[in-house]
Amino acid sequence: MHNIYVVEDEDNIRDLVVYALNNSGFKAIGLLGYKELKNEILKKKPDLIILDIMLEEDDGYAILEKLKSSEEYSEIPVIMLTAKTDEMDKVRGLDMGADDYITKPFGVMELISRIKAVLRRTGVSKKPDSKNIVEFKNIVIDLDKRVVTANNKVLKLTYKEFELLLYLIENKNIVLTRQKLTEEIWGFDYEGETRTVDVHIRTLRQKTR
Ligand code: CA
Repeated sequence: MHNIYVVEDEDNIRDLVVYALNNSGFKAIGLLGYKELKNEILKKKPDLIILDIMLEEDDGYAILEKLKSSEEYSEIPVIMLTAKTDEMDKVRGLDMGADDYITKPFGVMELISRIKAVLRRTGVSKKPDSKNIVEFKNIVIDLDKRVVTANNKVLKLTYKEFELLLYLIENKNIVLTRQKLTEEIWGFDYEGETRTVDVHIRTLRQKTR
C-alpha cells in the first residue's frame, strides 16, 4: 500500500483528498503545513507527497525546495496543487523538481490517475534493474509480483495476510499492538474483532514456517 502525505491548509480540500485516497487503496495522511510534514516524514517516509502551493507559513515552493535539497527526501515524488491558472506557477513547480501538478478545482478521479502515473514513472525510473524485494529470515517477498516464498517455497497468502506479513517485517523492530495492526491493515473504520489479527498471525506463522 502506498503512503501518501497530503499537505494542504484548507480543511475541506485536505479532508476530501485524504478520504478519496483512503477509499482508493492508498494510505493517506492529511497535514497542515511544513511543521506537520516534517514530523510525519521523520516517522515514516511517504511514497508520494501532494503539496499545495498556497500554505500559511512556508508555501509549497519553500517546502518543495527543502525536500529536493535534502539527500534523504529528494527522491520522494511530489505532485503540486495549484489554485492558480498561471502557466508560470506550473512551470516553476516542475522546474524545481515536482513530478506533476494539478489545478484546483480538480476531480478525484483525475487526481488518482495522476498519482498512479507518477508512482509508476518514478518507481520505474528509480530502480530500472533491481527488483522490489523484501527479505526476512527464511521469507522473501517480491513486491512487484506480490509473491511470497518461505524456504524457497511459494506461499498462498490472502490479500490481508500479504499486507500483514509485509507490515510486520517492515516494522520488525517496533512493538505493534493489535489495535495498531488493525488500523494499519484493516483500516480505522474496521468494525470486526481485534481477534482477526490473532487469527491472521497464527495462519501466517503456520504458512511461513
Ligand atoms: Ca491552501
